[in-house]
Amino acid sequence: MTTVYMDNNATTKVADEVVEEMLPYFGQFYGNPSSMHTFGGQVGKKIVEARERIASLLGCSPDEIVFTSCGTESDNTAIRGVLESVGMRRKIITSRVEHPAVLGMCRQLEGHGYMVVEIGVDKQGRLNVDELKNCVDDDTALVTIMHANNETGVIFPVEEIARFVKSKGVVFHTDAVQSVGKIPVNLKDSASDLLSISGHKLHAPKGVGVLYVRKGTRLTPFMVGGHQESGKRAGTENVPGIIALGKACELAEQNIVHENTVVKGLRDRLEKKILETCPDSFVNGDVENRLPNTSNISFEYIEGESILMMLDRYGICASSGSACTSGSLEPSHVLRAMGVPFTAAHGSIRYSLSRYTTEQEVDFAAEKMPAIVNRLRELSPFVKT
Ligand code: PLP
Repeated sequence: MTTVYMDNNATTKVADEVVEEMLPYFGQFYGNPSSMHTFGGQVGKKIVEARERIASLLGCSPDEIVFTSCGTESDNTAIRGVLESVGMRRKIITSRVEHPAVLGMCRQLEGHGYMVVEIGVDKQGRLNVDELKNCVDDDTALVTIMHANNETGVIFPVEEIARFVKSKGVVFHTDAVQSVGKIPVNLKDSASDLLSISGHKLHAPKGVGVLYVRKGTRLTPFMVGGHQESGKRAGTENVPGIIALGKACELAEQNIVHENTVVKGLRDRLEKKILETCPDSFVNGDVENRLPNTSNISFEYIEGESILMMLDRYGICASSGSACTSGSLEPSHVLRAMGVPFTAAHGSIRYSLSRYTTEQEVDFAAEKMPAIVNRLRELSPFVKT
């Protein structure tokens, strides 16, 4: 059975070109980039090149790139690092639909004397920007708002928010883990101070991430020890991972138009076919303003987990908007924040495509849905007879 992979917001295939670029740095060029000898120095040069490639994709300076181990570390570092460096301010503003890498950190800090304000979203998953602006005050240390939501793909107006936050003298961080590589991100004239990336979401391997730190931003390091990353993140570098991420960013830069034309077209094709053939189904999130690869669809009266299991029998990989918590299925915090009704939130499926998705795969996945939905509805206690 072949795999039809439509779960690219969870993780992506490592691009062949990326694997090729990183492989020599395991067995052949294994030197430590901090070493004084030529053998280590040649590795250091490749790290410099990776930093330049990433900076080129982001429109920033290479010395504003700090390598981390993942998106979670980048988010955690940004939040804790800013709070420790700004002194007495105790308020953090975030949104109710952030990834747990941000929400979990903020909620942990709440128990340590910080006040956390979680801004809500409307039924289409759009951030209440006015509410956010009204919350920024003299006690605000940090505003952290994601660029694009991992479940619905909805894009937030982070530049508008960053400019406002900056005008109030407050630091702004954005979790851009889902947006970088899918939509243009240009930090050149941006007001954002910090931005998180994760390698495995853009066809690099797991275990490498980036925190962009704008020049002049005060940040207390999370990891202390050696002098790597100009003292902003200690620890011997994940050399193959960093080289891989550099290559992946170069490829992302070349593919950004493809993402927003071909991949978007395939996503729209999949969505249209499913909505036409499956009654009582609808898209979650602002359809006009979302990532080109993401479609989150609710199927009323049935459970997402059951849909996933039936898709799995055909080798189709997607994900659902429910998670098993203490033995019962809980709709995701994102769909709950959007006020998606219980009967629909439980039956939500996220399809997330990539540049490797084909039209045949889209048609295959769409064609399987009506029978799956009908079968599960026959068994559902919620369907009206
Ligand atoms: N932020 C967002 C929006 C994500 O989607 C994810 C991963 O799903 C993360 C952060 C965490 O990234 P990582 O898996 O690299 O820790």
